[in-house]
Amino acid sequence: MSASPKAPEIPGHALLYSGKVRGLYAPLDPRTGEQDRSRLLLVASDRISAYDHVLDTPIPDKGAVLTQLSLWWFDQLAGVVDAPHHVLSADVPAEVGGRGIYVRRLRMLPVECVARAFLTGGGLAEYRADGTVSGVPLPGNLVDGSRLPEPVFTPSTKAPAGEHDEPISYDRVETLVGPRLAGRIRDLAVRILVHGNEIAAERGILIADTKVEFGLDPTQLGAALGITPEQAMEDDLDWAAVDPDAVPVVLADEVLTPDSSRFWRAEAWEPGRSQISYDKQVLRDWLTSPASGWDRSSDSPPPALPDNVVALTRARYVEAYETLTGRAFQAPAHSGN
Ligand code: ATP
Ligand code: MG
Repeated sequence: MSASPKAPEIPGHALLYSGKVRGLYAPLDPRTGEQDRSRLLLVASDRISAYDHVLDTPIPDKGAVLTQLSLWWFDQLAGVVDAPHHVLSADVPAEVGGRGIYVRRLRMLPVECVARAFLTGGGLAEYRADGTVSGVPLPGNLVDGSRLPEPVFTPSTKAPAGEHDEPISYDRVETLVGPRLAGRIRDLAVRILVHGNEIAAERGILIADTKVEFGLDPTQLGAALGITPEQAMEDDLDWAAVDPDAVPVVLADEVLTPDSSRFWRAEAWEPGRSQISYDKQVLRDWLTSPASGWDRSSDSPPPALPDNVVALTRARYVEAYETLTGRAFQAPAHSGN
């Protein structure tokens, strides 16, 4: 884990990890200065990525929009999806207000649980080569953007920071975490996408695919396996020994946000071409236009964004939030660069 200079310091918290877009902090005990082992503060920044680059220009309120949307989805999914979620509280230090949440600190499963309801991206590439998606044979008449006959679980590895996640077969997931946990996380990921799409469809949005992550509570894990919570966090954990009916699989990370999912406008959906993504269209159009002066195939980083592109992109994120939730977005007092 490496700390990036971009993640802000938060009094009373230790930065554990800084990803491309989010930061992970451990609250410190005010008396001893020791890290809290049971909780984490998960903070979304306003940074945005496109074409595999994190841009220098932030999108104001993006972190808050994604955090608020994720919180809304956790509520929507409760009771529908047979897994508790990791959120403890959204009452966080003022400097990360609106874009931070306290969560249960979990032992994360080493799998990125991707589920696809429509064919595009990496799924389309495999289909064109082999007629399958994650090894599942599909009808021969599908094109870019087609709705799949039923959603498919297409897991990938959790790559270390800076590396790309690699698709893996379902067999590989069974080898990594054992057949019982593999079956459980597959069913949960598909259920989340199906239910998410039921809700989104009523609001004119299609969720083409999404990625969710799951974890297990180290104390519950320790009790079930006869090991300490600390041992439950170690590399050599025997995942296959875990009975998911005895140790609840907890829905973690973010859920059904534009950063973890592809959102399409239902009215513009037209299989046979690449679909326009709800959130990043303005940004991508500008970056690939002559106006940006940027050559995507070069090694150079993308240029700073003009104000109108920033404003339009921000408006898109807010619109996605407001369309899905039916709520007016409340911008937090502090920005989150
Ligand atoms: P990238 O920048 O490439 O996306 P990343 O996926 O590691 O890297 P983030 O998604 O920003 O970066 O980091 C969030 C990290 O927090 C992930 O590694 C995720 O597994 C982890 N995480 C999410 N929820 C919890 C939780 N409740 N307990 C422990 N770790 C969690
Ligand atoms: Mg991530």
